[in-house]
Amino acid sequence: MSNNMLLLFIDSLPYELIAKNNLFSWLSFKGPLRPGVGYSFTQKAEILKGQQPDQLGYLNFWYLDAEPTAKLNIVYNLTTFVRDIFPFGDKVLHYLLARVWKKVANIPFEFIGRFNNGVPSSYAPDNPSILSMGKWEIVIGDDLDSPNPDSAAVALMQTKIESASEDRSFFIALPQLDKLGHLYGPDHENYLEHARYLDSQLQKLTEQFLQKYPDGVVCSFSDHGMLKVTESIHLSGKLFNIPGGRRAAYWLDSTMLRVWVETEEEKRIIHERLKTEKHLHILSEAERKEYGVTLKKFGDIMAITLPGIVFSPNHFGIRKPVGMHGFHPMHQAHQAFWGMVQSNRTPQIENGKLIKTIDFYRELLAQKELNSI
Ligand SMILES: [Zn+2]
Repeated sequence: MSNNMLLLFIDSLPYELIAKNNLFSWLSFKGPLRPGVGYSFTQKAEILKGQQPDQLGYLNFWYLDAEPTAKLNIVYNLTTFVRDIFPFGDKVLHYLLARVWKKVANIPFEFIGRFNNGVPSSYAPDNPSILSMGKWEIVIGDDLDSPNPDSAAVALMQTKIESASEDRSFFIALPQLDKLGHLYGPDHENYLEHARYLDSQLQKLTEQFLQKYPDGVVCSFSDHGMLKVTESIHLSGKLFNIPGGRRAAYWLDSTMLRVWVETEEEKRIIHERLKTEKHLHILSEAERKEYGVTLKKFGDIMAITLPGIVFSPNHFGIRKPVGMHGFHPMHQAHQAFWGMVQSNRTPQIENGKLIKTIDFYRELLAQKELNSI
């Protein structure tokens, strides 16, 4: 039996938006997909590899890496001095340093050298995933170096399907909607227009694929939703001061705060302070277990901003986006979508049902007739 698959991935498309605007009506089965905690890198790995961050060993892009070196401590002491005298000295120094050393990002100087970035791509052929099982033709919009990566990716995929041999599956990753969402927000016509464009383009791709592989299966998904940013908050570094003059290491993504401490007492002190921050939801032990983010390397304390609120500046950058994702996985507008076209293999998931990333991974395995990767 053939197990040709066409797998369509759209970065940042909320199920809510699909349902409200009756998009992707050519998908015979679809519903909301509950993402995990974190950003695209983690979500894609959860869906394509069936692993949560605890098994993956990474969460988001930046991670706590090492103790600061003595050399960096000197830099830190100097920059603290500059910051104390010139309130904007910190920003100027970051700007200048980041021009020659990208890894500086917007990280407080005392932590530079302790954080590092770079996680493995879920698309890499040597990284076990659905995409490393069997023969795939893979088109990643981001790799195409085009001002319109989505249309370039669709055009390339058309030629790949046309010329492919019998035993092929196809994966396409479309990055543009995410960028439009950050730039304009999900309520903007440009965002909705592009979602409609993808609807029609992917339907055409699906028809082309099914004409060539009548027994093939077509599955589609996004990794999270997109919300309009309503407020940005600045979190003072003083919140992480520990008696004795030290500061606990902390990392601010756009919507996620992670803190590392050395003792239970330090954890208690910082936890108490954070509890009074009304814009934050501190992840409970039960939630961390549910989303598979229990490792200490992900932080002793983890908190997410409430829907629509972002940290700005954060350690990743200083720009405030118009739209953002990375909010609580149970928030409706933050939920992604899953979808399938009717085939010989009826999905085990009911139409319209809210499922988790791991459920969709299992469905992909079943559709591909695999037991594991
Ligand atoms: Zn994004």
